Amino acid sequence: MQTKQLLQERQELHKDIVEMADAHCHLSIMDDSAIIRDAVLGGVLTMVTNGVDTPSNIKTLSVSDNKNVFAAIGIDPEHALAIDESEIEKELAFNIGMARQNSERIVAIGEIGLDYSVGGGPHNISRQKRVFGAMIELAAELKLPISVHSRNAIKDVLEFLDEKEAGRVHLHFFEGGVEEARIAVKRGYMISVPPIESPKRKRVIAMMPMDNLMAESDAPVVGRTPKAVEKSIRYISSIKGLPFDQVASALTSNTRKFFDIGARSGRKLMRY
Ligand SMILES: [Zn+2]
Repeated sequence: MQTKQLLQERQELHKDIVEMADAHCHLSIMDDSAIIRDAVLGGVLTMVTNGVDTPSNIKTLSVSDNKNVFAAIGIDPEHALAIDESEIEKELAFNIGMARQNSERIVAIGEIGLDYSVGGGPHNISRQKRVFGAMIELAAELKLPISVHSRNAIKDVLEFLDEKEAGRVHLHFFEGGVEEARIAVKRGYMISVPPIESPKRKRVIAMMPMDNLMAESDAPVVGRTPKAVEKSIRYISSIKGLPFDQVASALTSNTRKFFDIGARSGRKLMRY
């Protein structure tokens, strides 16, 4: 559809729509064009989509041809464990090469991290750390931020990030409590909030400075589509006691700033 026509339709349907940003989703495993169009019409004008393995990284790069979509590529812990042990170095080299060749097209290295629910024990942990470490080094080399996944592993993730001197860090679907959130703030990390409420998450959001917060859908894994980010923003707005519009706009600007969106060559954001 022509951009002009799309804009017209959007203006007619949603006159007073508020602009939102989704800091973490997976468009490569969705019917991307219909879903992106629907998200844009709903006000989600910035989507950061993450790859998790070789095929999804390739798809992620092509989805990011859309002006509202920004790519992060990486190997997540689940897929790090799924790679045959003899193939790990080859897979790493292939994905590192892909990131280097497309460094102008990507805004982060992600999704990467540690997940002890898909495989704990010393052997699995060391395999996960091998891949996570290589991805952190790649981000440093390309001067890109990282989007980190952590499940049942937050203490190790924080320790590993410190050990590797990771710079610009985004902890997606933050699983930590107030204690870990304090460490994240002290180090200048960003955390993003998924569209799921919990008493622990509520306490974290309450103590987190607005400057360290972003919102995410994690679609289609958690939210069905990137539009679910609206629920995450609403949740933050209710806990902070601030108007939805104000929170949406602050989180959008945090997301663009963190991922350096708009400043990258050839990547101009659609503006209305
Ligand atoms: Zn994810």
